[in-house]
This record gives sequence, C-alpha cells and structure tokens, in this order.
Amino acid sequence: NQLDERIKSVEKERNEKEAILSNMIEGVICVDLDERLSSVNKAATEFLGHDGSQKILGSTIQSVIRHTELQCFISKVLNCADCVKEGIVIQDRFGRYLHVHGTPLSNLRGHTTGALIVLHDVTQLKHLETIRKEFVANVSHELKTPVTLIQGFVETLLDGAAQNPIDRDRFLGIIKTHSDRLDAIIEDLLTLSRLEQYKDPSEIGFEKVCLNEVVLKVIDNCITKAAEKQITIKHPEVSTMYVIGNSHLLEQALLNLVENAIKYSLQNTEITLTLAQKDQHCMLIVTDQGLGIAEEHLSRIFERFYRVDKARSRKEGGTGLGLAIVKHIVQVQGGWVEVSSQVGHGSAFSMVLPIAS
Ligand code: ADP
Repeated sequence: NQLDERIKSVEKERNEKEAILSNMIEGVICVDLDERLSSVNKAATEFLGHDGSQKILGSTIQSVIRHTELQCFISKVLNCADCVKEGIVIQDRFGRYLHVHGTPLSNLRGHTTGALIVLHDVTQLKHLETIRKEFVANVSHELKTPVTLIQGFVETLLDGAAQNPIDRDRFLGIIKTHSDRLDAIIEDLLTLSRLEQYKDPSEIGFEKVCLNEVVLKVIDNCITKAAEKQITIKHPEVSTMYVIGNSHLLEQALLNLVENAIKYSLQNTEITLTLAQKDQHCMLIVTDQGLGIAEEHLSRIFERFYRVDKARSRKEGGTGLGLAIVKHIVQVQGGWVEVSSQVGHGSAFSMVLPIAS
C-alpha cells in the first residue's frame, strides 16, 4: 500500500510539473552534459520549429537547434555559467525576437549535471523599443530645425543686421514664425501625452454630446480661414445625433480634420461635413476636393510626424501630429478613424463613434 501511495504521489507530481511546463508561454529546454535534450516544453518545441517534443528528446542540440548562436550559448552555459548571466537575444524563423536565459543545473553535491534554457518572446517589447527610438529621433529632428533657424537669425541680428530696420523686422518675423512652430509642436506633443495617460472615461469627463452642435462650432471657427481661400464649407441638415464623449476633444479632432481639408485644398473648392448613422455608430465625415493622398500613404498618415509632402505641410504650419491626435481622441471615446482618398480628386476622413442610446 505504501509503495502504491508513493507511486501515485510521484505520478501526481510529474503530471503537475508537465502541466506547468506545457502551459508556460516561455520555452523551457533542459540539456544534459552530453548536450542532449533531456526535457523540452511545448513552447520551446514551437520556437525551435519542431512538431512534437517526443521526436527531439534525446537528440543533440546540434541536430535539433538550427540557430548556431543558441547552440554556442547552451555550450557556454554548460561550461561557464558566469560568462552568460545577461543572456542573448536571437531571432527565430518567423522573425520573432527571443530572449534566451541560461542557468546550469547541479546535483546535491554541487556538480553540474546540465543546463536549463528559458526562451522568452520579446518581439512586442522590441517593437515598442523601436517605436520609442524612432519617436525620440523624430521629435529631436522636428525641434532642432526651428531652433537652428532661430539661432541663426538671432546671431545675424547680433552681428549688425539689427541696425537696418528693414532687415531687423524681416528677421524678427522669421524668428516669430519658427518660435510659433516650436510652440505648436510642443502643444501637440503635450496633447498626445495627455491623451495617452487617460486610463478610463471618468478621467476625461464624458457626457452626452450633440454632434450637430460640435459641427456648427467647428464651422464657426474655420469659416474665416476657408473664406481666405474661397472655400465653401457645406453641412447638410440631418436629425440630431448624440454620442457619449467629451465635447472639447471632439471639437478639437473635427477642427484638425477641417483645418487639414482647408490646408490641402486649392482655392474655390468645397468641404462637406456630413453626419450619418451606421449600425450602432455615428459617422462624422469631412470630405474635401483637395490634393488627395496616394494609396501607399493611407495606412501611415495617422502615425506621428508622418507627412506625404513635408515641405507643403511645413509651409502650411503643420506639425505632422494632427491626425495622430484625431486618432487618439476618437479611440479614447471608443471609436475609430477611416480614410479614403484619390489623388487629384480629394479625401474623406471619417470619425466613427458609438451612438448614445
Ligand atoms: P500636418 O500637420 O502635416 O497636416 P497631419 O497629421 O494633420 O499633419 O497630417 C499628416 C499628413 O497627411 C499631412 O502632412 C498631409 O500630407 C496628409 N493629409 C492630411 N489631411 C489631408 C487632406 N485632407 N488632404 C490631403 N492630404 C492630407
């Protein structure tokens, strides 16, 4: 009976261990001193590109691991544990980044009997790190350009140009333009960072918002700018529509879209602001007859600092952050953005928001 109990308890422990290992998202590999696989879980089998662990158990690492860097790493862990404390990052055949960590296994007498290798998928982290690096590089570049220009003109003024009133006024005008630009970039960056910090709707202050009122307010704000280019803003009458959201943020998002429509349209064209209902969602669509955007740019224009025509955007006072802000505002209110466009014919940007019951 005692033997029976023992066997049952050993079996239970083994099953538990196997269940834990096979349900881990990390890949776990054990190798013995002969560099043969003594244990490997489901995740590791998949990372190594094999169908089942049974087929590879007992095989040498050289025959089942195609990654030479990983083979060398395992050999190093078996021979010199201290050299590999940091671990390594490798890429598997699907392009996933795996962080590999190794620890030598030892028996009760302290002799090394093998090595335990843990593989952790860090693709998402790598991706975020790349985005962060790109973002920092972009911000620095965007800020550096106006600062360099401001410095240059201030130096010219100090070197004597200030004596000539015409030059002085012209250079001060340029300095003002570029400092306004710096201010606009910083303001947009702060807006984005505030939007990212919101964790739930209560922090933003949600209320029942009448979209028709939002549209009328934005038209009021843009009418002068549009008139300067003889652009007409149209708004077909529709029944009143409500969403649960934040009216200031919605106004800001719609304003960005209408300002873009004005910026990227030629004189004597039309912009239409349409409200429509689609299933359980309200759609706010800004249609212009402007330059349009080529197909290859459409998936990227909502990224920070992405511009189709950099020179034109800068000339129009754009920061390259407007559409990223629109996307974030709509997302924090549970919606999404859509765009369709045709070069030379115009674009239609839509904000799709859940309708208030
Ligand atoms: P910007 O400050 O440069 O306008 P946005 O993030 O608002 O930055 O827009 C990103 C880019 O998308 C713009 O630089 C422009 O190339 C393009 N774009 C945005 N709206 C329109 C539009 N209505 N028509 C044509 N191109 C547009």
